[in-house]
Amino acid sequence: MSARILDGRMIGRAIRNRIKVHVDELFRVAGVIPGLAVILIGEDPASRVNVTNKMKACPDVGIRSTLIEHAKDVPAEFLVENIRRLNDDPATHGILVQLPLPPHHDVRAVLHAISVERDVDGFHLYNVGGLVVGDTIFSPCTPFGVMRILDHAGLPIEGRNVTMVGASAIVGKPMALMMMQRDATVAVCHAKTRDLAEYTILADVLVVAAGVLNLILPQMVRTGAVVIDVGINRSPDGRLVGDVNFEGISQKASYITPVPGGVGPMTVTMLLANTVSAARRYVERTRGPSIFLQDVTQLALQGR
Ligand code: NAD
Repeated sequence: MSARILDGRMIGRAIRNRIKVHVDELFRVAGVIPGLAVILIGEDPASRVNVTNKMKACPDVGIRSTLIEHAKDVPAEFLVENIRRLNDDPATHGILVQLPLPPHHDVRAVLHAISVERDVDGFHLYNVGGLVVGDTIFSPCTPFGVMRILDHAGLPIEGRNVTMVGASAIVGKPMALMMMQRDATVAVCHAKTRDLAEYTILADVLVVAAGVLNLILPQMVRTGAVVIDVGINRSPDGRLVGDVNFEGISQKASYITPVPGGVGPMTVTMLLANTVSAARRYVERTRGPSIFLQDVTQLALQGR
């Protein structure tokens, strides 16, 4: 078997085209340009690359982004005060704090300072809790992007065995909850899992987000499985690669995401979708819900 490639760039482009239509409508009907504030603390080069990628995508769909940089030792009160000001800024509809923060910062305090209505990364407690009951305002971008890849390809989730490798608050746990909301049978594995292969081999859909090069080998994957590789690593020869052994597993899986070009572009696309949703919600809150042609809050959930 040779796996079909789930092309995140292509799917992302299709979704971005739809997002653009909603941005145009926002301006036409309400005179509003969606605004995203991106907060970068410290000098971590990987974080800077991430921030640059996110901000570069904004003009594609008509979002105005602003970068706010702080030194790594910025006082917590100053940071929180700054976020509170952005919460009240009518031109800022989404706020993103790039993670990870430098070690001495209290991540929770920073993330919880962002108002729920501007929490386009989906990390506020309300949005995290909403994943359990199924009504978040904003879903976290990476797992949201994975769901959209599966839906776009018409791959079923209900009743499937899903194994999630990685249990972080950003990817693994919300992904598992989103899969449960869609009635999958979900196993969640992590660094302390005793025999990883026992779980991965059961998976109809295997999602891997561990950040470990070559963690998943072909013998750990069921023939015909759908394999979603979230991981980002450098191979010894300097290439960007995921957590799964792509060459071997693509001979066995039915579908697979490449790295780069799989989940990464979808994460950015979902951030754009959440930001435009936030702007629409802002307009509806301040001017009434009937202003738009369509009643849409989760833009990227529509159609294929
Ligand atoms: P993290 O370090 O917070 O969490 C890693 C998880 O993997 C933990 O639960 C850990 O227990 C588990 N793990 C580690 N080693 C393991 C092993 N040997 N076996 C099983 N589980 C193991 O990382 P994260 O923020 O969740 O990110 C995971 C990976 O995904 C990283 O490579 C990161 O760069 C990547 N990532 C990619 C995107 C994207 O858009 N493509 C977004 C977020 C994260």
